[in-house]
Amino acid sequence: MSPRLPSHVHIIGAGLAGLAAAVRLMAAGVSVTVYESAPRAGGRCRSYHDPVLDCVIDNGNHLMLSGNHAIMAYVKAIGAEDRLAGPRDAAFPFVDAASGARWSLRPGNGVIPWWLFDPARRVPGTTAWQYLSVARVMRAGIGDTMAACVGASGALYRNFWEPLTVAVLNTAPSEAAAGLMGPVLRETFLKGAAACRPLVARESLAATLVDPAVTTLTRAGARFRFGTRIRALTLSDTRVTALDADGVSVPVSDSDSVIMAAPAWIGETLLPGLAAPPPGEPIVNVHYRLPSPVTAPGDVRLVGVVGGMAQWVFARGDIASVTISAASDLADTPAEEIIARCWSDVALALELSDSTVPPARVVKEKRATFAQTPAAAKLRPGCRTRFANLLLAGDWTDTRLPATIEGAVRSGFTAADEVLKPSAAKAA
Ligand SMILES: Cc1cc2nc3c(=O)[nH]c(=O)nc-3n(C[C@H](O)[C@H](O)[C@H](O)COP(=O)(O)OP(=O)(O)OC[C@H]3O[C@@H](n4cnc5c(N)ncnc54)[C@H](O)[C@@H]3O)c2cc1C
Repeated sequence: MSPRLPSHVHIIGAGLAGLAAAVRLMAAGVSVTVYESAPRAGGRCRSYHDPVLDCVIDNGNHLMLSGNHAIMAYVKAIGAEDRLAGPRDAAFPFVDAASGARWSLRPGNGVIPWWLFDPARRVPGTTAWQYLSVARVMRAGIGDTMAACVGASGALYRNFWEPLTVAVLNTAPSEAAAGLMGPVLRETFLKGAAACRPLVARESLAATLVDPAVTTLTRAGARFRFGTRIRALTLSDTRVTALDADGVSVPVSDSDSVIMAAPAWIGETLLPGLAAPPPGEPIVNVHYRLPSPVTAPGDVRLVGVVGGMAQWVFARGDIASVTISAASDLADTPAEEIIARCWSDVALALELSDSTVPPARVVKEKRATFAQTPAAAKLRPGCRTRFANLLLAGDWTDTRLPATIEGAVRSGFTAADEVLKPSAAKAA
């Protein structure tokens, strides 16, 4: 190992940001210890056996896109490229729960969006010229909301901008920061079909994004301390000198670094004075165990629903899962009511004839993302801190991206790259 590299890196949090940082550091020959307060890795992107459904479910559907280059690099590094699944083509089928109308948004190849001139590929009732609102989103200032850029009515708003904004930013367009949508459009939809093919975990989030990382890292010598909460950092004027790991002091030597990849609300407690964006709205998922598997090309079916309670329906094997983002108004709604009301959307989206509601589980993630509003986005801290050997990672740090897997992985890579810079190690 180069003498300029840190001797050891302590990573707080085994969500995707922490795992991505560990993967990059271990590949560069730096040893790491990952402290995770939960008994397993994954954080907000996890899977577990559900006793009601008697199968493994994810905490929530996680949609990725083929243009998410950090995710692609991450799955390659952990040998899990073949564990992503999705339709062969970039196609986003929708159904209107009110009218029953169906359409499919199908971006074409190439960066010039000629496909918009084909009515069969765009949202019905819209003209190609209305999509110029994309340009207003791309030019959005830091204080602009999505509604200020794209309006708040009309077919394009109801059937494209509103579902896209709620799905990507977990915030209604009237509140959502347009500045966070621009990079997503630039890196996916504006690059053409090859960059916006929808992808999900083939089997489960754990089997695709988490377990292969833990296995790869453990084999390479990384140490995982699951069930260990970092309760405090001991700080000198310029450095972290120790970690309080559940009451046990872990010294951080002058040549060590610390990457704090815990969520924003934990970061604020560990690093007094840190300004971080507040939590945003909950995301609710409903998982139904169907009597028989849904077959679909590419092993997974994804249908957007407008005008219903469900927003997206994912079908993978015999599990149909509904996502409802920006779901503050469902926080206190009983699970049975959500299950019953969403089922008609699922049956419509997947064209199921059986009206019997199958066994189901509701998962409410109250702190799913930070509040992705212009005001909150301004509070995102950068990776470096005033402590020379302390770096921040996590989807809430200033990645310029929304709170997504791509943002989390990129933040972990960035923190690792900062640690690997000679200047980070030498400041003692
Ligand atoms: C229901 C839901 C649906 C989502 N859908 C999508 C989607 O479709 N597409 C998409 O790209 N993204 C989606 N996301 C967002 C995505 O899951 C997150 O952006 C990503 O998982 C965040 O990773 P992270 O590593 O930054 O944070 P986290 O996953 O929160 O990881 C932080 C880790 O730190 C640990 N920790 C906390 N405190 C301590 C401590 N004191 N000591 C040690 N460890 C600690 C936590 O247990 C956790 O494991 C969704 C999120 C949710 C909840």
